[in-house]
Amino acid sequence: MTLKLDGKKLSLSIEERLKKDIISLQNKSIRPPSLAVIRVGDDPASGVYIRNKEKACERVGIKSLLFHLSQNSSKIDVSNLIKDLNSDKTVDGILLQLPLPGHLDSIKLIREIDPKKDVDGLHEQNIGCLVQNQLTLRSCTPAGIVNLLRSQDINIEGKRIVVVGRSILVGKPLALMLLNLNATVTVAHSKTKNLREICREADILIVAIGKPNFIDSSFIKNETVVVDVGIHRLKSSTKDASHLCGDVLLEDVIPKVFAYTPVPGGVGPMTVTMLLVNTTFSWQKRCGLNSTVDDLLS
Ligand code: NAP
Repeated sequence: MTLKLDGKKLSLSIEERLKKDIISLQNKSIRPPSLAVIRVGDDPASGVYIRNKEKACERVGIKSLLFHLSQNSSKIDVSNLIKDLNSDKTVDGILLQLPLPGHLDSIKLIREIDPKKDVDGLHEQNIGCLVQNQLTLRSCTPAGIVNLLRSQDINIEGKRIVVVGRSILVGKPLALMLLNLNATVTVAHSKTKNLREICREADILIVAIGKPNFIDSSFIKNETVVVDVGIHRLKSSTKDASHLCGDVLLEDVIPKVFAYTPVPGGVGPMTVTMLLVNTTFSWQKRCGLNSTVDDLLS
């Protein structure tokens, strides 16, 4: 039977572990961890993602602080807020919710976040540490994928892994993490020739392209592990109804593969959980403690 890589279940068990760590330190009168989220404008999808993050923080005992700036905020407005949060000793993590309004440069603003508080793992210093395979705050979605594979003892070392997508958020940091774990990694993108043939060589195929149901069984060899990062809400044939799907046409692929991540309930919950892990890691370091979550930062 095909193995389902259940991100929801794993994320709940990691949350239990974080909750225990946080409570045990609070019992020693250490302040709780805190995460500052900066939202600029009113992108509706961002609103949903932020609420999910707030709820997750609440479940494990992380204090979440939302800073909601107006759509027409200037670069200086956002920079000043980042500066204040950088110097606030009670803030452990800063997350700049993307996408930003078009007039703001996300790369430049992320560069202004204190790398030790960069819980999204997107600061160039943290990406640099990843290149050098040094322990640091890791990009949440890729770190979540690696933890999901490891949780089911899916071997990474020596495996031929194809990552489709090369975004700074998913594909590139993921490829580096897998390389650090001794996989042989191919990164494909929109200009890749013979994508189908390349995908068919993969022992583990990871798809992050943002195209609903793009990858079907013709891209996959038997007994592959398929990780679907994409998430899309599609209108169902029934009026007003909708459903979620990924970049992989799962119903076509599942009979052929060894393991797969469902959508929803696969990569998505792990992304949020890794944000909690990063915030807890940053908090433990800031409080001068040995981090108990090092092993979750691949
Ligand atoms: P992105 O920034 O749009 O990057 C998409 C990547 O896919 C690009 O590298 C692009 O190539 C490549 N690509 C596009 N069409 C392709 C094609 N036909 N063949 C091969 N490669 C193709 O997207 P992203 O931020 O990485 O996100 C990808 C998907 O994952 C989206 O659906 C997003 O919503 C989802 N996502 C989910 C989570 C989660 O937690 N579940 C987290 C992050 C993202 P080029 O570089 O050549 O343009």
